[in-house]
Amino acid sequence: MLPDLQLNDTVRLRKPHPCGSYEWTVTRLGADIGLECTVCKRRVMLTRRELARRVKAILPRVPETISSAKPGE
Ligand SMILES: [Zn+2]
Repeated sequence: MLPDLQLNDTVRLRKPHPCGSYEWTVTRLGADIGLECTVCKRRVMLTRRELARRVKAILPRVPETISSAKPGE
């Protein structure tokens, strides 16, 4: 139900956080998913089921350092 999610992915939720942001960064993957608000940095934990209900879109990852070597690979 959730497409594969990776750490540091940015997800856009259907409803805004009280601070006005729709976008959250994935900070933890497990039975529960940890998200950090991209604006106010508040962290929340959601179950995968809950997250799947709330996510509107997963934003595409932008490669930041295209020409540099990949660390750890
Ligand atoms: Zn926020």
